[in-house]
Amino acid sequence: MKSNLTVKIIVALVLGAIVGISLHMISPVAFDGVNKYLFVPLGQIFLKLIQMLVVPIVLFSIILGVAGLGDPKKIGIIGTKTIAFFLITTALAITIGITLASIIQPGKLMDVDASSSPGFEAEKTPGFVDTLLNIIPSNPIAAMSSGEMLQIIFFAVFIGVGLAVLGGKTAGILKIVEQGNELMMYLVNVVMKFAPYGTFGLIATASGLQGWEAIRSMGLYMSIVLIALALHFFVVYGGAVALLGKYNPFTFFKKFFPAATVAFSLSSSNAVLPLSMKTAQNELKVPKAISGFVQPLGATINMDGTAIMQGVATIFIAQVYDVNLTLSQLVMVVLTAVLASIGTAGVPGVGLIMLAMVLESVGLPVAGIGLIIGVDRLLDMVRTAVNITGDAACAMYITKSEEQKGRLHLDESLDMKN
Ligand code: ASP
Repeated sequence: MKSNLTVKIIVALVLGAIVGISLHMISPVAFDGVNKYLFVPLGQIFLKLIQMLVVPIVLFSIILGVAGLGDPKKIGIIGTKTIAFFLITTALAITIGITLASIIQPGKLMDVDASSSPGFEAEKTPGFVDTLLNIIPSNPIAAMSSGEMLQIIFFAVFIGVGLAVLGGKTAGILKIVEQGNELMMYLVNVVMKFAPYGTFGLIATASGLQGWEAIRSMGLYMSIVLIALALHFFVVYGGAVALLGKYNPFTFFKKFFPAATVAFSLSSSNAVLPLSMKTAQNELKVPKAISGFVQPLGATINMDGTAIMQGVATIFIAQVYDVNLTLSQLVMVVLTAVLASIGTAGVPGVGLIMLAMVLESVGLPVAGIGLIIGVDRLLDMVRTAVNITGDAACAMYITKSEEQKGRLHLDESLDMKN
């Protein structure tokens, strides 16, 4: 991505926040009007344009990724390493969140009254077996039309393996998928030209509608989530990229920054996927086969930022309701939050809904979610940026470790010049 586009996006982000907040302060009625006819349409045009590309990109890139990795054994190794990275970093994320919240004790220090919670009704989450069974699409076309990410990924992996095994016999189909992918990546470039305007609209809406009063009163809870997110982002991802990937973490953050910024404004790992893959492939030189496999999977199941929020929120709610969690309950929180973050769809706000599952696992009142719902908008933006950076960090780790083992073809190898 050209750096002037990055600059434009950042300027749009800052301008959007200033315009949204000041207009709302000057006149909420004027804000509502401008929001409805300008900010919302600008944001939605961008969001829908980029979402339009998600399903074909996930389908094409996973097929290409899996077919490009060649033999099923290699796919198995990369798949296992990817899932291990996702699970370990997610468990670390929750642990950081739980530890900080237990030390600082926001629920005790803040003046929050449990009975002031506006309440929250939990939706029934499907059981573990159903969740696993649901990954297999009985109708792949239906899966695509409803954007069922895990089902699409499952189907695409199958097609990719088939193409790899059949080789020359299906070379024509592989070529079509390759060209389809090329076309989609070009369209991402076209859509990104609109990113500054879209970002402006999305941020102006979000900052104008944000309850600033709530933010002031929930400051400590928010600060803990933000500190935990920053720690995880810089220490865990920076460390993973430097130690496992032997790549300069500052270069990694700098190059991936544009994608993280757009993730912040979209609040959706799925929607930002076309851009995050493009950034990893073009700027970080992650081979298409690896990026195409790791990042769509990560955007669907790897949500470290979400897990952090769930960890801090659980401890916070326990403190507000005066419940002391035992060590085994804390372990339970880590386990269920890993599952809850895997089950969180990469769209705005779902992490908070999945928090119900974590609270229920240790008998905390789900109504406690009502206490934090008012400040979740901003946290959702930041955690989404963390979520997708984790996927890119994993893609870097896999690239480098495969390269060191000599399992990458020469033309796929990482360009270390930068
Ligand atoms: N918005 C987050 C994402 O798309 C999910 C969440 O935590 O609500 O990554």
